[in-house]
Amino acid sequence: MRQVITVKDVETLIKNGTDISAIPADAIITPAAQDLLSELGRMTARSTTSALQPSAQTENPSGHVSNNSGMDIESLFNSPENAHRKEQICEVGRRMWARDYLDGNGGNISIRVDRNLVLCTPTRISKGFMKPADLCMVDLDGNRKAGEKKPTSEILMHLEIMKAQPRAVACVHCHPPYATAFAASGVQPPNKILPEFELFVGEVPIAGYETPGTIEIARKVASHSSDHSTILMANHGVVAWSDVSVEDAYLKIEILEAYCRTIAITSQLGAPPNRFTSGQMKELLNIKQTMGVHDPRIGKDISEIALQDDAQWRPGVICASPPDPKCQCQSKKAPVAKDRDESTEELIQQITDLIMQRVIEPS
Ligand SMILES: [Zn+2]
Repeated sequence: MRQVITVKDVETLIKNGTDISAIPADAIITPAAQDLLSELGRMTARSTTSALQPSAQTENPSGHVSNNSGMDIESLFNSPENAHRKEQICEVGRRMWARDYLDGNGGNISIRVDRNLVLCTPTRISKGFMKPADLCMVDLDGNRKAGEKKPTSEILMHLEIMKAQPRAVACVHCHPPYATAFAASGVQPPNKILPEFELFVGEVPIAGYETPGTIEIARKVASHSSDHSTILMANHGVVAWSDVSVEDAYLKIEILEAYCRTIAITSQLGAPPNRFTSGQMKELLNIKQTMGVHDPRIGKDISEIALQDDAQWRPGVICASPPDPKCQCQSKKAPVAKDRDESTEELIQQITDLIMQRVIEPS
């Protein structure tokens, strides 16, 4: 099994005075660790066959684009490291297709292979039947650098997220039905209900609608990426990014979709769900902090964490008792059908008048 080198590993090597060249040539080095190695100016000590060198790209006399390690882009694209990444992308595509998260040729997946290079799915292909040979590679500006097929039309969104989040190593986008239903209705999934959702996903914002594939939607989604790694896209779907792996990004979507399905069922039961107390929520956020998962709510006054409006996702239903004072649902109870009440009153009056008339009138 290939060794994975993280920033912590590099720091430990330096601390122990170990030469960086001791890192196995076939080790997988995380982007953050690559940055650190690069800063240390020791990358040159490593094998030039590594696919993970920083990539200020230049064009050599033969016309082949290469990164600043001198490695040919085509060789990098076909390296064993990227063969493995391509398999990972195809596997995530198959899993999403098998779970109905994708329709037609929808959805797209990317993995950052270098500071400025990204492997991605091509346009117009079912992600359930993709092969490694179908994939392509682009730079952070979206220019195709390798691969036979045209990159996904939604690549700009992946790239804007990666530009905004240098830690991001992968992005996954798809249209899972339950999460997409929340996005289509403009309803944020309610919080304080299930622990796994709070721990691995947390609050999910909805990026406003823009035409798919445009820089506008890419920027809108990326603007939420600092505080959120799972983002709903209004009237479209969901995107998740990860600083760990493409599978990690996919799992966030799987957790969100399962949660939205549970919430959709909960909303039909006729009884309000119990919500976590501030103490229970604080415990979950403490665990999340220990796990090293970012959540903008960590460290905040728990009582200040807004509770999504129940009236929005369960029309006519109010919070569990006692209601959260922050929740607006109390003031948004299902409106009384005033018109109907008035007409009912009128009808009752008419019937009463008729009866009284018959009683009073001599037969
Ligand atoms: Zn889409």
